[in-house]
Order: sequence, then structure tokens, then C-alpha cells
Amino acid sequence: MRGDVPVVGREARDESRGTSIPMNENVIDGAAIAARVLDEVRAEVDRLKARGITPGLSVVLVGDDPASAVYVRSKESTSRDVGMAGETIRLGAATTQFELLAIVDRLNASDQVHGILVQMPLPRQIDADLVLRRIRPDKDVDGFHPVNVGKLLIGETDGFVPCTPAGIQYMLEVCGVDTRGAECVVIGRSNIVGKPMAALMMQNGAGADATVTICHSRTRDLSAHTRRADILIVAAGRPQMVTAEMVKPGAVVIDVGMNRIPDSTKKSGSRLVGDVDFERVREVASLITPVPGGVGKMTIAMLMRNTVRAAARAAR
Ligand code: NDP
Repeated sequence: MRGDVPVVGREARDESRGTSIPMNENVIDGAAIAARVLDEVRAEVDRLKARGITPGLSVVLVGDDPASAVYVRSKESTSRDVGMAGETIRLGAATTQFELLAIVDRLNASDQVHGILVQMPLPRQIDADLVLRRIRPDKDVDGFHPVNVGKLLIGETDGFVPCTPAGIQYMLEVCGVDTRGAECVVIGRSNIVGKPMAALMMQNGAGADATVTICHSRTRDLSAHTRRADILIVAAGRPQMVTAEMVKPGAVVIDVGMNRIPDSTKKSGSRLVGDVDFERVREVASLITPVPGGVGKMTIAMLMRNTVRAAARAAR
């Protein structure tokens, strides 16, 4: 143990399943944990299919943002892998708000569609908030509709929790991180990561009960906060901004950031890094997620879990 927070050994035990989670030293293997979530999802898809219900996820992509295209392809192939039905609707960059809302309405009305995801960002002519509010809350598998946001905040568990924070909470749980009473510092206050992450960790109950601090670009003396953290969750979109000096020895560090930086040694001329200086910080942290191979894999797995839950609820 490198510090005074409870940590786990080389192989964390996932008590709920009686199995252990693979880890390389203190690096959390997000891909392995995500694979387990997907196995559970696949089993649930099979159960639903046996009852005549095929869970369906519809993803809508507007425009030609290359990063969005990659995310959408990955969602598409994962949903196919777990046996779900579904489609990706690809629309041109000139799509109007009216046209997009009409598609959302059609998906809202379809019995075959259990989950709807409109990939962000949307072209400038479309009001993203309006589109997110149009998706039926019971099909809002991204968890961005105000009804689901509100349910998360007040601790109602029948809504959908945004996938990235849900995946992080799941990882912490299976890695045996004791969150109760822990100082949890979140860097970032976006609606998709920072705010829902903080809302989850502050709830009353298992996997939560943390004392939460949210930091953002106006925070005075960021290091003073991060150095107090037993659990540090970084979602700022700033390459390698968290250095070893900012981390309390023994802390659990979760890196949400996905940033492309120039790297002439790579064929593509760039590489993906997180918001944390991984090599230095892993020397002081008790546990850390890598980029890639950490949080990103969990995000897609939780999207699949939300979709299968939406289908199961619709079948009730
Ligand atoms: P946003 O840009 O919406 O939010 C970034 C937040 O970080 C803001 O609240 C901002 O503060 C804060 N911030 C920025 N710079 C600093 C700083 N120097 N000090 C303290 N706070 C700072 O980003 P997202 O939340 O959408 O995403 C964050 C990162 O996570 C990105 O790299 C994104 O690509 C990645 N991501 C990864 C996912 C995954 O599955 N792995 C999923 C979603 C996102 P302020 O509000 O004051 O501007």
C-alpha cells in the first residue's frame, strides 16, 4: 500500500461475482472490466430474445466530424457484438433541426427502438439541448435528458446514468475502492462527465457516500484540492495536466481525458493521451486508469447496459 487510502493488490476481487479483475501492477484494465460488463449484457440480451424481445439501439450521427464517426462505429460494432438490433442513421452536415427532430420523433414512437443516442457535437444550426430534450426519457440511454439528470441528483435509481460516470463508478466498485467517506475530487464540470460524476459519488449508498469537491477552470489553487483527494477523477480535456506533485500518495486516479497530441514517432503523427501524466503519476497512485484502455472502454459498455435495461423495462 503506497498511501493511507484503502487499495487493492495486483488482482482486485470482484466480490459480487466471486472473480478477480486483471490488473497490471496498479493499472486498472478498463478493457477487461468492460469485457465482463459486455458478457453480462450479452446474457441479458439472450434472455430477452428468448422472450421475443430484441433490444434495439439507434444512433444518429449528423455531419462528418471524424472523432464522432469513430465513436459511432465503435458503438455500432459493440451493439452488434452483444446481439442487439439497431441502426446508425447518418445524416448530412446540412441537416436541419426540423429534420433531426422528426427522426427523433420516429425513433421515440418505434417499438423496435429501446435506446436512442444522438452523437454530439451537432452542427451549429441545430440546438443540441432541444434535441436531447426531445428524446423520450425512457429511451435516453445517454442519460442526458433533464428527467434523467434530475433522477440521478435526487437519488432515484430508475433513470439512466450517463455512461462515462456510471462506468467509472463501476470500475471503482469492482476494484474494491472504498468510496465511503473518501475525499473525491472531480476536475471538470461538464454535463456529460463532471457534474453527473459528482452527483453519483455524493449519493447515499454503495459505491458512493464520498465527500465530493468539483474543480473547474476558475478554481483557485487546483493542487491544494487534488492533493487532498483519495479518489481523483480528471475530466478537463487538457493533455497531461495532472502531474505527480498534484497527487496524494496512494490516491486512486481516474483519467477521463482523451487528447490527441503530436508525436512524430507515430505513423499517424499523433497519439492519444489522457489528462494525467500517466508514467509519473502511476508511481504515486495506488491505482490508475490508462489512456487508452481505461475509461473509454467502460463508457461504451455502460451504453450497452443502459440499452438492455431500457429494453427490459419496456418489456415489463
Ligand atoms: P468539457 O470541455 O465540456 O469540460 C471540461 C471541464 O474541465 C470544464 O468544466 C472546464 O472548466 C474544466 N477545465 C478545463 N481546463 C481546466 C483547468 N486547467 N483546470 C481546471 N479545470 C479545467 O469536456 P468534457 O467533460 O466533455 O470532456 C473532458 C475530457 O474527457 C475530454 O478530453 C474528452 O475528450 C474526454 N471524454 C472522454 C470520455 C471517455 O469515454 N473516455 C467521454 C467523455 C469525455 P470550465 O467549466 O470552467 O470551462
